[in-house]
Amino acid sequence: MTRTSQVVVIGGGQSGLAAGYHLRRLGLDFVILDAQTTAGGAWQHTWDSLHLFSPAAYSSLPGRLMPPQAGQEYPDAQHVVEYLADYEKRYELPIERPVRVLGVHRDGGLLRVETDSGPWRARAVISATGTWWRPFLPAVPGRGDFGGRQLHTVDYRSPKCFTGRRVIVVGGGNSGAQIAADLAHDPEVTWVTQRPPRYLDDEVDGRALFDAATARRRALDAGRTDTGGVASLGDIVAVPSVREARDRGLLKASPMFTRLVPGGVEWADGTRAVADAVIWCTGFRPALSHLAPLQLRGRRGRIATAGTRAADEPRLHLLGYGDWTGPASATLIGAGRPARDAAREIADVLA
Ligand code: FAD
Repeated sequence: MTRTSQVVVIGGGQSGLAAGYHLRRLGLDFVILDAQTTAGGAWQHTWDSLHLFSPAAYSSLPGRLMPPQAGQEYPDAQHVVEYLADYEKRYELPIERPVRVLGVHRDGGLLRVETDSGPWRARAVISATGTWWRPFLPAVPGRGDFGGRQLHTVDYRSPKCFTGRRVIVVGGGNSGAQIAADLAHDPEVTWVTQRPPRYLDDEVDGRALFDAATARRRALDAGRTDTGGVASLGDIVAVPSVREARDRGLLKASPMFTRLVPGGVEWADGTRAVADAVIWCTGFRPALSHLAPLQLRGRRGRIATAGTRAADEPRLHLLGYGDWTGPASATLIGAGRPARDAAREIADVLA
């Protein structure tokens, strides 16, 4: 049986919840379909020691400040999960779990959302499926030859799993630095980065990143010179764990190797390091395969947008995949504004 709703939101992480908050305020009929069995989106799956890079008050969704976590200036991922679970209850958001959306199709004047528990029809769809579900692995020669374990950021949990193992951590971003710091007490761990690590100033945290992203978007929208945004500040937020490992001299980065060999990795000059495991902290791509039937993907797999609206499918909005769907829209504090804009646009069209 096909069910109908004015708006279907795909994904019940922070972006989907922020959309739900604004859709509810505007009195629209909507449903949120989420593939997870419980609340919290990707925050349920991160490594044990992950802490936010901003204080609680700067990590809040619209309407409700994140409460501080006792004893922690920067809350941990479990605290975020609890906050999101409370948020969706507090605002009585209509979420169906677990429901996986398989495809979104044009169907006359409506969009048809095919799921693993039956189809929905809607006048508008908001896609908020995040990036965690599409880990990116670079094409490095010899990846298939390596005899050890290869993991991505999404698979890493804690140093306990690597005691006595020779590990190579790849990646000069926040995940690479934090996982390298997590493992840094072990002399058998090597951190490799494509270019020397670029730390943000120690006093810079997520608050400054949000300001930088917003200033960049405003400058671009007003036709002014690109400020460079967050990337101009550096790549790695010096969260306490990273700062401590770095200051103790434990976070030394080696240049990127050129290939993997059966027993480890090899650099251009022929030097080799033996490894039991390689952890690829090499980023993510937007999880958009459910939108493939709409044939909207352009350069670098992105969908062209005007604000949050897909340029070539006005009934579709995208939230939370990166700066291309709104400044800092893939952060807790940044999710609210694009969600509000999307909900307002949809309300205007439906009216
Ligand atoms: P997600 O949390 O991934 O939620 C998407 C939801 O959609 C999931 O529940 C998923 O199961 C569901 N879904 C996916 N595909 C489908 C489908 N086909 N059908 C139905 N449901 C589907 N941000 C901050 O503000 N502060 C930080 O400190 C911070 N640290 C981060 C650290 C790491 C390691 C990472 C990776 C990100 C961090 N972020 C941080 C960025 C961002 O806040 C998170 O990535 C956040 O999880 C993004 O939320 P989201 O709702 O867009 O996506």
